[in-house]
Amino acid sequence: MKVRGGLLAGAVLGLLSVSAPGSGRAAATKEGAEMAPEAHFTIVSDAASPSLEEIDAYLDRTWTRFRDLFAVEPAPVRVVLTVAESEAATRSQTDQRSEAADAHVIAWMLPRGEGLDGQSLSDLSHEIAHMYFLDVMGNPGGLHQEHAWLHEAVACYHEADPFRNNRRQWMRDHLEDRVPLAQLFEMQNPVKVNPLVELTARLHGQLAKGEITVTELNQQISAYASSHASELVNAGVRNMTYYSQSLSVFEFLLEREGEAFIRTMAQKLRDGETMESIVRGTGHYAEGIDSLENAWLEWSRARS
Ligand SMILES: [Zn+2]
Repeated sequence: MKVRGGLLAGAVLGLLSVSAPGSGRAAATKEGAEMAPEAHFTIVSDAASPSLEEIDAYLDRTWTRFRDLFAVEPAPVRVVLTVAESEAATRSQTDQRSEAADAHVIAWMLPRGEGLDGQSLSDLSHEIAHMYFLDVMGNPGGLHQEHAWLHEAVACYHEADPFRNNRRQWMRDHLEDRVPLAQLFEMQNPVKVNPLVELTARLHGQLAKGEITVTELNQQISAYASSHASELVNAGVRNMTYYSQSLSVFEFLLEREGEAFIRTMAQKLRDGETMESIVRGTGHYAEGIDSLENAWLEWSRARS
């Protein structure tokens, strides 16, 4: 991937942006330059490392993975990366994007020194997959979107391999804590009904308006966390299981029923059909969701 002029000038300014078409050509320009119409990402970053080209190549794999799965051309996304001194600040950003945010712009923090194999870029891929999938599904229900399990499953499916492997391992270790599938398919994302998340979202809003500093934000979050430690641990376990199970059921369906089924399932859900009817419609699960649950459990146990 070659980088043309403008990069050096951008480096001097400390703020770079790269507009990279899918063909593999990268046009690095100063902030504000016109984006090639076919570019998948415009990236602005104040990180010295990873480089813009490395980040672009990394995210382009997310774009390709989504395109291959859903047979759609995901929309261009603008990514604004800033280096954060504290890892804690970056951990609270996943799934916290505000409803009012531009649908195809994402601001993201990278802990200083974290590389391409770190969690932050994997989490960024997760969030970008959410953006793409919202374009497929629309967002009825807003924060408590319908078919939340599928939104999370698709997002987790776009994480880097080591992080998806962690989720698979978690599911193997927590099969007994699973949520019945009939409930999983209907429930709200438990992460979004957590008071710490509500606090975090509110503080990020205040931060954006300049009412508080990052330090104050971190102090308030730590104060809340230390005074609610045990309930947060329980909620954390439940949330991890919810994400891992959503991904696991999705991977089961993908393996057994194929990509075409996944696309049809998403379309039917968007059109108001129920999972019970979709599952029965395959002809592979005589008792609907109950049969699916047994088949998925058997598959999960065989995998471990
Ligand atoms: Zn998510």
